[in-house]
Amino acid sequence: MKLIFLGPPGAGKGTQAKLLAESYSIPHISTGEILRAAIAKETDLGKQAQAFVDRGELVPDALILDLIRARLQESDTQQGWILDGFPRNVSQAEFLEKLLAELNQNCDHALNLEVPDAVLVQRLLGRGRKDDNESTISRRLDVYREQTAPVIEFYKQQGALVSVDGSQQMEDVTKNLKSCISV
Ligand code: ADP
Repeated sequence: MKLIFLGPPGAGKGTQAKLLAESYSIPHISTGEILRAAIAKETDLGKQAQAFVDRGELVPDALILDLIRARLQESDTQQGWILDGFPRNVSQAEFLEKLLAELNQNCDHALNLEVPDAVLVQRLLGRGRKDDNESTISRRLDVYREQTAPVIEFYKQQGALVSVDGSQQMEDVTKNLKSCISV
């Protein structure tokens, strides 16, 4: 099972990705989590990424692409994987296409969680992560609309897109996702 999660910040990608990863016994690969861990450990990657993450900007592709290539070649990805937070712009999506072709892999579904903006802002403010203050949130939503939303169209054209209402209760979203996946 190879899944990509799409959707704006606060849509619940991380929560749902984690639940599905447990349920299918496959790794949950979150670029946001990888970057936050690198920032906490003050690694080279973390030092280079920090200012971008703090401003709500995407980190440069150069910091992310090699990391994804290496991660998808680790042995635990044989049975599948769930990508959360990647691809986040069209050039990352094109990179992933080429990488998967090289690895003889294919993404089964791109799962798009749809949630209205007002709900997103409430959820993000309630979450209280370091990059969840009001100005960063509004920048992240702008960046999402400008750079990440076009990725939805990319997967639609490939026939891989599945959109699910992410504003429902957590359990209902999980149920809907699972029923789309198993069709
Ligand atoms: P959210 O829950 O808001 O979607 P994430 O945890 O996925 O946030 O990501 C947090 C931050 O990490 C982003 O705002 C961005 O700065 C950076 N980031 C995560 N994934 C990527 C990526 N694929 N490309 C560039 N930057 C990324």
